[in-house]
Amino acid sequence: MSVLRTRSAVSPLRRRFTDLPLRLPTVDAIVAAERPEEPLHCLRPAVVAETARTFLGAFPGDVLYAVKCNPDPAMLRALAEGGVTQFDCASLAELRLVRSMFPDAGLHFMHPVKARGAIREAWAALGVRTFVLDSAAELDKLRTEIAATGVPGQPDLVIRLALPKGDARLDLSGKFGAAPDLAAALLRAARPLAGKLGVSFHVGSQCLDPLAWRDALALAGSVIRAAGVPVEIVDVGGGFPVAYPDQEPPPLGAFLAEIEAGFEALDLPGAALWAEPGRALVAGGASVVVQVQHRRENALFVNDGVYGSLSDAGALAFRFPVRRIRPGVAEEEGLVPFSFFGPTCDSADVMQGPFLLPADIAEGDWIEVGQLGAYGACLRTAFNGFDQARIVEVSDRPMLETAGYQPIVTQRAA
Ligand SMILES: *Cc1c(COP(=O)(O)O)cnc(C)c1O
Repeated sequence: MSVLRTRSAVSPLRRRFTDLPLRLPTVDAIVAAERPEEPLHCLRPAVVAETARTFLGAFPGDVLYAVKCNPDPAMLRALAEGGVTQFDCASLAELRLVRSMFPDAGLHFMHPVKARGAIREAWAALGVRTFVLDSAAELDKLRTEIAATGVPGQPDLVIRLALPKGDARLDLSGKFGAAPDLAAALLRAARPLAGKLGVSFHVGSQCLDPLAWRDALALAGSVIRAAGVPVEIVDVGGGFPVAYPDQEPPPLGAFLAEIEAGFEALDLPGAALWAEPGRALVAGGASVVVQVQHRRENALFVNDGVYGSLSDAGALAFRFPVRRIRPGVAEEEGLVPFSFFGPTCDSADVMQGPFLLPADIAEGDWIEVGQLGAYGACLRTAFNGFDQARIVEVSDRPMLETAGYQPIVTQRAA
């Protein structure tokens, strides 16, 4: 008889603990001691905690961490240490994980299309009180399934607005969100069911233009006026950018100024302002050390790639900060451009870069690839058997600092 089994798509990072000193090592020390032949994930929990503290201190409202960006428990703990108490989750697994770690956290189910059983478990067992939606069918689903649990109460309902395509690095306009007329109708239809009622949007990930939030808030204002019902939550989503070698975002304050002005212009006294940052809180919080296994002219065959944690370096052509690590050799000058091939046999496992590295880089050298705390490890697959990685917590600064997030004192000059 065949048995229906369930299986997660991605095997969790296998933790192989070594006898490390209690004080966190540096990336260079760990590479020199371990000479890792598997990708080495270097987590910087102190950086994540400090970035969260900075963002929470600067944002004029409530901050929900978007868990999909990096659900590693060590990162979640670091975020909590930095003051994060609210989480934007998109799946039952994310909700369960956060609830198991933080019994008192505020959980928000921010996926506009949810399984019925997920709604019931979220409401009745996990204490989720906020749900996002962008269709009348989802409103009916929420009404029916919440009632079916028999657990009384009114959910807070947030209507996700569609935005016109902007020029964020990752456009998110095509999949979710209600057009203005539908959004206004949904606000009216949801009002009697909702405890609090809100609007949300996402300007796209790695959005470098502060005015994108001003425009989106103006659109939210016109939808709220058209609906003619009171609104208590305005959620400006994620999308806050970080630095990459070819991208230097305006400082965080420039984004927050637009958001504050746009929110004030809505004139909704008493309404709560929310944000759902992912990338901005964790990108600097991890790097991955890869090893060069072969060099063919200016292409380097390395042991992680687009099916591993370097997914965004593939089709999206992100240029991550890199540096060569050759134990005993200091940082070098005279950098030249390289591209990378990942370890799998798929010819799509290629990363064009360019990644600037010493001209004499060779087989056996290591490369630290930075800004991988966001959308790095969480996108790994087991394709072709290359799913082994090692993980360690380190005391290094991020490889690139993002304007507005730096601590007062930095340990190492960039
Ligand atoms: C992915 C996502 C976020 C986080 O986006 P970043 O660009 O990483 O800040 C926030 N909200 C929603 C609904 C998302 O899907």
